[in-house]
Amino acid sequence: MILEFSFNYLSSSLIYEKIMLRTAKLFSLESKIVKNGDELFLYVESEDSDELENFANKLSLELPHSIFLHTMDAKIVEDMPEEIYVLPNTAKLPIPFCPQCLQEVIDESNENYYNIFQECEVCGYSVEGERKNYKESFTNIAKSIAEGLVVEVGTFYGTYNVGKADKKCNDIDFDILSYDLFSIEKYTNATSSEIIALGAIEKPFLRLKTNLTFKKDFEDLQSELIRFKLPDDFVLHLLMSELHTLGIDLIFITKDKIASQETLTLVKFEKEFEPIECVVSEEQVILLKGNKGLAYKKLSNEDLIPHIGAFFSVIKEHSLFDKTVIGVNISKEYHNDILVYSKKFGIIEYLSLKFEFTSMQDVFDAIINTDQTGAKLITNYKNKFSEHFENISAIKFDEQVFNIYKLWGIIAIVLDYSKHKDLSKSAQILENSASSFSGLKGPLIDYKLKNVDSKVYLDPLMTIRTVMSFRLAEVDQLSLSYGVVESFVEFISTQLDEIKQEMKTDAVAITGSLLGNRHLFSKLTKEVSVNHDLYFNKELPVDGINIQYGGNELF
Ligand SMILES: [Zn+2]
Repeated sequence: MILEFSFNYLSSSLIYEKIMLRTAKLFSLESKIVKNGDELFLYVESEDSDELENFANKLSLELPHSIFLHTMDAKIVEDMPEEIYVLPNTAKLPIPFCPQCLQEVIDESNENYYNIFQECEVCGYSVEGERKNYKESFTNIAKSIAEGLVVEVGTFYGTYNVGKADKKCNDIDFDILSYDLFSIEKYTNATSSEIIALGAIEKPFLRLKTNLTFKKDFEDLQSELIRFKLPDDFVLHLLMSELHTLGIDLIFITKDKIASQETLTLVKFEKEFEPIECVVSEEQVILLKGNKGLAYKKLSNEDLIPHIGAFFSVIKEHSLFDKTVIGVNISKEYHNDILVYSKKFGIIEYLSLKFEFTSMQDVFDAIINTDQTGAKLITNYKNKFSEHFENISAIKFDEQVFNIYKLWGIIAIVLDYSKHKDLSKSAQILENSASSFSGLKGPLIDYKLKNVDSKVYLDPLMTIRTVMSFRLAEVDQLSLSYGVVESFVEFISTQLDEIKQEMKTDAVAITGSLLGNRHLFSKLTKEVSVNHDLYFNKELPVDGINIQYGGNELF
């Protein structure tokens, strides 16, 4: 009898392949791995059906979940395939512990009990050190943290400050390290897809909204949207285990400067890596930033042009060269546009989201000069919010690039949610308000196009005008902010439908850090995917140009 396991697995790390081979070796059965693009197959053959069942059970224990795993299946087939697949001889990527190594390190009867240097051909950071039991060091440091001290901890990929999450965090940029998934479920509104991703072997950061229980238990903390992760090396894992026995399941972790009273340096990392951060919807997991555990990408000249480079990296990662592909670039930092690629004509910019203003006064003048309704709107706005209007008119911009995110920044200022002249900071406030909205639908905000010299642009003034009208009608901040984000996704969706009809495109590649907005990403993957085949970066962060180091060459 032959059993076929199939995985849609978008990773070049070889974690699954190596664990399959290792597990198969423990059984006396014939096995074979076949890889076909993103499809990974394992075949095992035996006369003894009990043995096959035992193998399947063992494999499910050994194989960790991965953020790169999309679907898996198992079925009985007639024949072993002919192909022969040889595992490429590439370097191990720096990733957290596999289930087998974890089992050894937490097993009191095992020689590797509390040995932080335990690793295998699949997992670990390839850092040398004395193999011994380090329990005492962890017990002592955990006590210090419980007493309220800040500790500088050397992990396998960098140095961090950690401590009890309390009011000292309000002055720094911090993340939360959690003992287990249960604590994250208890303190945030994480969805089941998010919980599954957090538990994956890559142990990514996810930005989550904290709930009322969190506000009650950590009343001194001011942040609502915080990045959470599980320990992603043995130093952090064993530290959290010791803290757990003292009743502490969450601590802060930061790279920021904060005076530490103790240090824990059991390991000297060789290469510093930035942990990865993901955004998760029901349908997809994508990488926002970081490089730890990711494959290496050789940069070419075109990769260095932010929006085109990101678009091209998706085409490369999914081998879409023979298709006609729409590229939607929605970076928070760089130029935003919609591109179309085909082998026939190369890349064209179909629609630009570029605009420019020097100040808030400039924005208001432009609206006044558009038409009579615009002039009347500004007069009404000025009369109703005279002090606010005067204050913000003095705001001058200092931006290199204007894009959708910066437009949201201007909107946040117009609506009096922010007075930050740094438009990214203002936009962040609008994003936070949108994510605190618990309703189903916000007001419909206009995103309209205009033609300038036979090119198509988004008209930012129309969007600003609608939000001003809603403000005059006293629509509340949360639903208005949500409407700004929601209506933008609907605008993109309509554009994609039109382009598909006009240019007969087959696929859509979406890139850029704005995908990190959880509502936007969820809505895109749920609604736009009904009419379009959506593609995102597989093993690269969404802005595409993050230089990777270490690991394996991707293309
Ligand atoms: Zn391992």
